[in-house]
Parts: sequence; C-alpha cells; structure tokens
Amino acid sequence: MHRLPEDDSTVYRIIQKEETRLKSTLDLIAAENQPSPAVMEAQGSVFSIKAAEGYPGARYHAGCGPADELEQLAVNRAKTLFQAEHANVQPHSGVTANLAVYFSVLEMGDRVLSMKLAHGGHLSHGDPASITSRCFQFKHYSVNRHTECIDYDEVNALAHQYRPRMLVVGASSYSRLIDYARMAAIAHKVSAYLMVDMAHIAGLVAAKVIPSPVSHSDFITFTTYKTLMGGRGGVILCRDKFSANLDKTVFPGSQGTPSLNMVAAKAVCFKKALEDEFIQIQRNVIENAKTMAAELQQRGYRIVSGGTDNHLVLVDLRSKGIKGHIAEAALESAGIIVNRNPIPYDPEKPGIASGIRLGSPAVTARGMGPVEMREIIALVDTILSDPDSRQAFNTVAGEVARLCRRFPIK
Ligand SMILES: *Cc1c(COP(=O)(O)O)cnc(C)c1O
Repeated sequence: MHRLPEDDSTVYRIIQKEETRLKSTLDLIAAENQPSPAVMEAQGSVFSIKAAEGYPGARYHAGCGPADELEQLAVNRAKTLFQAEHANVQPHSGVTANLAVYFSVLEMGDRVLSMKLAHGGHLSHGDPASITSRCFQFKHYSVNRHTECIDYDEVNALAHQYRPRMLVVGASSYSRLIDYARMAAIAHKVSAYLMVDMAHIAGLVAAKVIPSPVSHSDFITFTTYKTLMGGRGGVILCRDKFSANLDKTVFPGSQGTPSLNMVAAKAVCFKKALEDEFIQIQRNVIENAKTMAAELQQRGYRIVSGGTDNHLVLVDLRSKGIKGHIAEAALESAGIIVNRNPIPYDPEKPGIASGIRLGSPAVTARGMGPVEMREIIALVDTILSDPDSRQAFNTVAGEVARLCRRFPIK
C-alpha cells in the first residue's frame, strides 16, 4: 500500500493490526480460509468502480465491454468447474444467493423444509432470527440423537407430512457427507424443489474429494471464501429451465449493480480450483481434519457424530467441564482462533454453547500437515485443560508463534 498510509493513517494502522493478527495466529475457523494473492489483487482491482446493472450483452449502463467479458468468463468457469447447466455469479453473499433462490420459485408463505440451525443448518434456512422465517413457513429437520447424523427416514416422514414446496439441504456445522440422491428422491416424491447450500464444502466439491450435489439438485448456492479459497461473495447454479427466473430475481429482483471486483475474484478462484495444487490442498484439508478429530479423541474429547468426512470437527467439551464461550476466549488469548458452537441437543444457550467447531482449511493453506495438526491439538488441549494457567498460556503462545513463523502466510 502506498497512498493509504498518507491519506488515512488511522485506517491504515487498523489494517496493519489485522495483517499482524492473521500472520501471528492459527486460524481454525471452519468458515475461513487463506485466499491466494491473485484473488486479493483481483478484488482490489479497478473493477470495483464499474456500474454494470444487468447481464453480459444486456446492460443498463454503457462502457461494459470488459465487464461483459469478465462476467461471462466467470460464468463459464463456474459451469465447467461444477458441471452445471447455469451459473449466476452476481450474489453479494451466500445469504443473498439463498434469498434469490427462494424468491425465484416460491410465493410468500410457501412451506420449506430445512435443517435446524442448532443442529448444523444456517440462519438463512428459516431460522426465527432471519427474515427468511417471515417470508416463508419453515419446518426443520434435526439430526438423530444417537448417531448425530441426518436421519433420512425422518426427513422423508416430515416431507410427506408437511408437503414443502422446497427442500433445503446443506449446513454450516455438519461434518458428515450428505446423501444427495436420497434427498433428491424425497424432494421428488413430494414435488418439492431441491436446493443444496454447499457454502462450506464448495472447495471440496470442486476438487471432487467429496461427492457433488450438482446433478441431483434444482438449485445450488455457495460462497467462494470458505473451502473454495476465493474472495467474499455468493454464486448460484441451477438447471437451465430455472435460469431466466433466477437471473431476474438476482437482478433487478434483489440486487442492483454486481460487485465486478468480486466477480473477478470469483473467476480467479474458479481457475485455481481446476489446478492440481488446489486439488492436493483439498485432499490435505480432509486428512488434516481427520487427524485433528483422532487426536482429540485420544485426548478424551467427544467428537460429535464420532468423526469427520470433511474440513470441520465439532467438539463436545462437556467431558472436559468447560463451556464453549470460555474455551473460545481462552484459546484466542493464546493465539488459536476458533468459534464456540452448539452441539446437537445442546443444553446451553447458543451464546455459551457446549462445543467448539474447528476447521482445517486455513492452516492447511499455510502448508501445515498431520504432524502440525497433532501439535495444534496438543496446544488446544493444554489450554482447555487449564484455561486459567499462566504457564500453559506462555508455553502455548510461544509454540503458536513458532508454528506461524515456520508456515508463513504467502
Ligand atoms: C457461510 C454460509 C452462508 C452465508 O454466507 P455469507 O456470505 O456470510 O452470507 C450461507 N449458508 C451456509 C450453509 C453457510 O455456511
């Protein structure tokens, strides 16, 4: 940065603080990642200036030659990467992508069946705190109390009782694979649309290291900043027959101009996602998450559902007698960044929570492997076993600093 330090030293200093924080802490937030410098350059580019209401070839502003070329490239790359019939790369975020899908085929008050937030779902899947719950009538499925996995028989029974117009699949803190063929069969039997929100796992799907929901679904939504390693923003994929309505619902229905700088970043991340290096990173993400889960179990922690098939591990802290919000704060003080998370059937309020959610993507992007994962879990355990100990804090903070120096952010 050249101009900012002079023009606004206050903002510049805060940005520097954030850079220092990123470089000197271990990011285990499952929803975060380390995007490539190329993605960062694209999103900081002059495309942030251009107003381009509409779509390539059909804009409501002049001067859209390069904008059209860019957006069409991003669309084509998204379709190739995910083998989709249609892609819309304009949604500003995952939530606005979901809103656009709902409003493209549902009427106000229609019934929707989706996963409960407290069991791994997302706010925008009809949680009472989300405006989605005021527009449509959501009913939620849970995970099974014993397996802590989706109970497809329960989803099927609820779908037959409730007769939703849409079945929403996908989650924010669910560590197991989802049987999309089975969900599609359920949706089909009750004539419901199937939408899969793959925000968390889009990178794993792109690399084909876990099954893809695309061929089973009417609509797919995702964000590019999680496992996909891109910038912030949302994308929608759908079947051709829904494309005209969907595009109209994004613009002019629910957004104005697209953020073309973010569209540029999306195009870059789609290209990178086809490369061998990306595919290897996604394989490592899963191996690292499995290593974390196994190491935690060895140290006496209970892992929700008994393990993980993806990039995240949901840890039940009750056996250690520590609550989620205390664990989160204690770990942060030593430089390990996680989030408290409700576990299924959690007796605690969400602000306290009985669990923490750990993710492997950001540390994997820094080049860390299974050896470092075991080291990190040992550090986590040291803190959680004695969250008030000065000595534990000093040891762990020193080790965190050492790991961060050995695996610098590019
Ligand atoms: C992260 C996430 C979103 C929200 O994305 P934003 O870009 O923060 O709006 C939506 N759905 C699921 C399942 C998510 O995990």
